[in-house]
Amino acid sequence: MSETTVGKILEEIWISVNDKGLEERRLTIKKARKTRTLFELLVATILSQNTNSRNSSRAFRNLLKRKLIHPKSIIEASMDEIRDSIKVAGLYNRKSIKLKELAQIFMEKDIEGELKQLLKEDVNRARGYLLNLPAIGRKTADIVLLFHYGKPVMPVDTHIARISKRLGFVSSKADYEEIRKVLEEALEHDEEKLLTMHLALISFGRKICSARNPKCKMCPVKTYCGHYRKIIS
Ligand code: SF4
Repeated sequence: MSETTVGKILEEIWISVNDKGLEERRLTIKKARKTRTLFELLVATILSQNTNSRNSSRAFRNLLKRKLIHPKSIIEASMDEIRDSIKVAGLYNRKSIKLKELAQIFMEKDIEGELKQLLKEDVNRARGYLLNLPAIGRKTADIVLLFHYGKPVMPVDTHIARISKRLGFVSSKADYEEIRKVLEEALEHDEEKLLTMHLALISFGRKICSARNPKCKMCPVKTYCGHYRKIIS
């Protein structure tokens, strides 16, 4: 599929889900660049793994209330205290260990300073650096690059991967990197477009193109969709 067609489909998806909530989310992310530290963002992303945003936000607020949102305080806190604070986000044993490891590495190294230096050189080197931190996978690394540093990358979550495959932007066997690159090209490596479409695709995945029982009949891009063609044939 050509970049132009992918871009056109993405625009139709954005029009179908664009609402006040989406715009608020976009502005919140941009505002957080000034108010939230990198460490806080990484804590939030660790908490958000395998749970919904309501539960991860509650866990984050519990840490805030107990002043456990700095590397030093997390290192000094007992495992029981951390586990108890983040229980609501699930997988709390594993997440507590990851938070301790993350805090330790932030105490030992100037992570923000080193990252800023790498970002001046090359976004891919910064991505590689992030991937070496505890509990940071490809999606989280790209979330940091886009959300925190405003770099033109596309974090690919399960919704975005599923939609990209169903609509034929990539093959059904495409991996993370392939999907990321196709979307970045189609959105002209423009940070504003990438942030907006990242949020729009997740919203579209939740509301319309869900993993099970997608609402194909009301889908604005069904005429492009290979998955839809298969189910109606
Ligand atoms: S037609 Fe169905 S499967 Fe295809 S993109 Fe729309 S909702 Fe998803």
